[in-house]
Amino acid sequence: MRTDTNAAAEAVASGRPPRVASRVRSNWPLVMVLWGLHAAACLVLLPWLFSWTGVAAMAAGVIVFGQGINLGYHRLLSHRSLKVPRWFEHSIVVVALCCLQGPPIAWVTTHRRHHRDSDGGADPHSPRAGFWWSHFRWLTLGETKTIEAAAIARHAKDLLHDRFYRRLQRQPLLPLAIYLAHAALFFAVGSGIGLVSGGWAAGLQLGLSLLVWGVVLRTVLVWHITWSVNSLSHVWGRRPYKTGDDSRNNWLVGLIAMGEGWHNNHHHDQAAASVQHRWWQLDGTYYVILLLRALGLATDVVPQRHRRRAGRKASSLP
Ligand SMILES: [Zn+2]
Ligand SMILES: [Zn+2]
Repeated sequence: MRTDTNAAAEAVASGRPPRVASRVRSNWPLVMVLWGLHAAACLVLLPWLFSWTGVAAMAAGVIVFGQGINLGYHRLLSHRSLKVPRWFEHSIVVVALCCLQGPPIAWVTTHRRHHRDSDGGADPHSPRAGFWWSHFRWLTLGETKTIEAAAIARHAKDLLHDRFYRRLQRQPLLPLAIYLAHAALFFAVGSGIGLVSGGWAAGLQLGLSLLVWGVVLRTVLVWHITWSVNSLSHVWGRRPYKTGDDSRNNWLVGLIAMGEGWHNNHHHDQAAASVQHRWWQLDGTYYVILLLRALGLATDVVPQRHRRRAGRKASSLP
């Protein structure tokens, strides 16, 4: 059977967006979740659902929950650029699950495949197959649903040793349950505060406001921020390093994705915890890593390539 991966490979080779042939099954549950949440995010336009508490929860949530992806799924799990205690690693993964981007094994497998053949035939989301393909369409053709066991065994073997991650991968309803539980918590906290301060109507209003602004809109924004790294940072920006792919340093994505947009730097040196190669290329995610190290929660933070080389040279001196 023709798979989504084959469709992407053919598209990259031909330079045309993949055509959704009848044999390429769309991941309909995921399609409905994607569009459903976008539609639900439009509820922020209702004045009754507005609250500054909701706006603050949304703004803070983009940063905090976004770190579940940037720090957790990307630099910690995909590249092992630092080490944290197991309980803390699992906590960050739970934060990432609240971004509704799938279980860690699937995310890491996709990302490592991206690095192994960036903008080549095996890249799951190269913009060479079309901008919108790289932004989100690759998801809708069932990539995360049908991600092959062989690909997982090849690219995410280390994560398979972890029982929690295996469970999240085998039971797709578990990540969804965690997401729904955190949404319910937002609603409950908002309702409780509103109820105490202004009665039942105020409780319902603040609960729904936190749900729509602090969970739904925030989830959609974090989606687009993550997706922009795959799309915008491969089509627009400077390429100081010849990496053999289309990765670029995109200042806008660098800003909104807390450093992840310095993507050409990252493709040049994937192992490093920091992607900041110039003083003005702010890498917010690395500052979080430095904070965790100062708190004793992060160790073995991988330095940039030139520092690793200098360290090796120094240690080889007699
Ligand atoms: Zn890339
Ligand atoms: Zn990466």
